[in-house]
Amino acid sequence: MEITYLLNSGFLVKTGRTLLVFDDFEDPVHAVEGALSEGNFDRLYIFVSHAHFDHFDTHILDYADAAERYVFSNDVRHTKRGKLFPAEKTVYMKTYSDWEDEAIHVKSFDSTDTGTCFLVDTGEAKVFHAGDFNWWHWTGEPEKDRLLARNAFQKQMKKLEGLEADVAFFPVDGRMGDAWDMGAKEFCARTKARALVTMHNVGFPAWRPPADFFAAGREIPYWTPGTPGEKRLLNEGGFKE
Ligand SMILES: [Zn+2]
Repeated sequence: MEITYLLNSGFLVKTGRTLLVFDDFEDPVHAVEGALSEGNFDRLYIFVSHAHFDHFDTHILDYADAAERYVFSNDVRHTKRGKLFPAEKTVYMKTYSDWEDEAIHVKSFDSTDTGTCFLVDTGEAKVFHAGDFNWWHWTGEPEKDRLLARNAFQKQMKKLEGLEADVAFFPVDGRMGDAWDMGAKEFCARTKARALVTMHNVGFPAWRPPADFFAAGREIPYWTPGTPGEKRLLNEGGFKE
C-alpha cells in the first residue's frame, strides 16, 4: 500500500490498482492529479467524512471523469457544494451503514463531531479513516463538556471494539495540548489496527508516541506526516520511505 499525505486529514491511498482519496480539501502539491495522469490504476474512489471546510472542497469535482464513485457522508448531501456533484456517481452514507460495488466494501461508523468514519475493504487492504471522530478533550472547557466528549467517544469506541484494519488514519490534534493523543491511544488499545497514521495536526510539531502510548505487546508502526506530498510504502515491515 502506498500512502500520500495531502493536507490535514487528506490522503491518497493506493492498494493494488485501486486509488482511495480521503478528505481532500486541499492538495497543495497536486498529488491526486499526478496519480491520475500516471494512469496506473483501475478505480478511483473519493471519500468525504463530513462537510467541514477542512475536509471537503469542490475542487475534487475536477476528478469526476476518473472517479468510479464519490462516497460522501450524508451531511454533505444537504450542502450547496454537495449538490454540485453528479448524482449518478455519488453515494451518501448514513452512520452505521454499508455500501459496496464489485470492487470495494465500505462500512460507516458515527463520528463524535459530524459525519462518519469509514472502513474501506478493497479486497487487498482494509483502511480505516476516522474523519473527525476523536476524543475531543479541551482543557479549557467546563468539566461537564469534557464529560460529554468522553461519553460520546466511549460510546463509539464500543462499536469499534476489535475492529481490524491494515491501517488507521486517526486525529492527533495539537490544539488539545497534552490530551492530543488520548483518542488515538484508546483507539489503538481497543482495535486491531495494524498501523497508525496521525492526522488533523496542521501547524503543530509532529507527534511522537510517549513511552506508555501503545499497550504492552501492542506496538504498531506509525507515521506522522507533516509535509504535503510526503509518501510512505506500508507493508508487513512497517512504513518505508
Ligand atoms: Zn476537522
